[in-house]
Amino acid sequence: MHAIHWFRNDLRIDDNTALADACRRADALAPVFVLDDVLLGQHREAHPRLRFLHSCLDDLAAEFESAGSRLIVVRGAPQRCLPALARAWKASLVTWNRDYGPYAKCRDRAVRDALEQDGVEVRTCKDGVIFEGGEIRTAQGGAYTVYTPYRRAWWGRYRAAPPCSPPQPRIPPCIAAPPGDPPPLPGGDARADTTMIPQGGAGPARRRLDAFLGGAAHRYHVDRNLPAIAGTSRLSPYLRFGAISIRECVRTGLALATAEPGAGRGVTAWLDELVWREFYRAILDTHPRVLAGAFRAAYDALEWDDDADRLQAWQAGMTGYPIVDAGMRELAATGWMHNRVRMIVASFLTKDLHIDWRAGERWFMRRLVDGDPASNNGGWQWAASTGTDAQPFFRIFNPTLQGERFDPAGEYVRRWIPELEGMRGKAAHRPWAGPPESRAYPAPVVDHRRERLVALARYRAVLGASGNAGQAG
Ligand code: FAD
Repeated sequence: MHAIHWFRNDLRIDDNTALADACRRADALAPVFVLDDVLLGQHREAHPRLRFLHSCLDDLAAEFESAGSRLIVVRGAPQRCLPALARAWKASLVTWNRDYGPYAKCRDRAVRDALEQDGVEVRTCKDGVIFEGGEIRTAQGGAYTVYTPYRRAWWGRYRAAPPCSPPQPRIPPCIAAPPGDPPPLPGGDARADTTMIPQGGAGPARRRLDAFLGGAAHRYHVDRNLPAIAGTSRLSPYLRFGAISIRECVRTGLALATAEPGAGRGVTAWLDELVWREFYRAILDTHPRVLAGAFRAAYDALEWDDDADRLQAWQAGMTGYPIVDAGMRELAATGWMHNRVRMIVASFLTKDLHIDWRAGERWFMRRLVDGDPASNNGGWQWAASTGTDAQPFFRIFNPTLQGERFDPAGEYVRRWIPELEGMRGKAAHRPWAGPPESRAYPAPVVDHRRERLVALARYRAVLGASGNAGQAG
């Protein structure tokens, strides 16, 4: 039998559920990646992420080549390309791993319909998550909208029946020569991008996981909040594109916690972050409207400022608040930002500059190598206090105190802000009080104490008007 495996966010051969299924049943297999015109259009300015995707595809292509096969990359609309390829190659089976965003779900339905009309069998698998949205339900059968009980239910289910990984696949020979040359990727603008992104692919992902579990994981519960040190796994871009299996991450993490009880607290805290990732996927699956508006719909009435200059200062890392600017400059230079700093810059944009969280969400999607609609939206709605399990609106980060607390030596801000060189310790977080040479750095664009009061008044106005902004809308 001839089969096609359609790669999407599962760019690896090992522990890939739908690929293993296709390999088991097919005599000949075409592994295909479709550069989806709609997604390329939506993400055309996301150069760091497109380059990382390209790097993952190169690695995957090399893996197929060493297995005696060939990855085929085509460009177009999947609902047209895949049925055409299935016809040309006389494929009677097409497999893929499921995605949970509204665009992907709608596109996948169209692809399935077109293939089934031609008599092609379609098989889809769960692969990018341990549990899909519908598998973790409250006692009443509804979806969880608060993380802590979701996490409890998630672990209960995991411990009752840990998911199995498929056996290592035997890759069947490739069906046919690809139709024409693979399209160039990424485009000219992305090629000119100089962001220092990591190397993509399954090999680098596994090395990162091993290095993390062998080292920083032991102190993760403490170090994860300190942006100056490499205290986190930096696996997010690999998980985003499926260069590493989530099952492997959880399984090896749990094995370490069992083998080395001293690592238990750190690893447990880390595994709970992987559960956040699934929580936000479940939210997007169940409530796709979060991509357009506040999860707590009453907060759609919040008043925002349309201030292009302030937005630009934030994007460029020129707000005059060192921890905010260091984060935005780290993002510009590397396509990644530390989680603590993501929370601080998001709070600053929404509650100090009063700019709509959607503008920040869009900017992150443009710059982040790990940019992912579910986690990004969840993070932004959390910071803006409009989300499922959000930071209460009255808890507003003071960017100076956050900097002093989580970067007490000023090491992180000096790394990304050369203007602060020479400012030691906590003083690096208050350059306005420093010597004249630190004045090359901009003065604060706003006064935090004042803007905090403005934000509180705006959130209270919504609460007063709706009476129940705390309820999911
Ligand atoms: P680790 O601390 O090693 O965590 C391991 C993995 O768990 C991560 O790789 C990631 O897959 C997952 N994870 C960790 N924290 C979270 C979280 N809060 N929510 C969901 N998943 C999490 N993460 C993304 O992957 N893509 C995004 O687009 C994204 N946007 C964000 C936007 C904002 C405003 C905020 C506050 C957070 C965002 N996050 C996003 C979550 C988090 O910041 C990153 O996952 C994390 O910093 C990645 O670094 P790491 O791999 O070293 O994480």
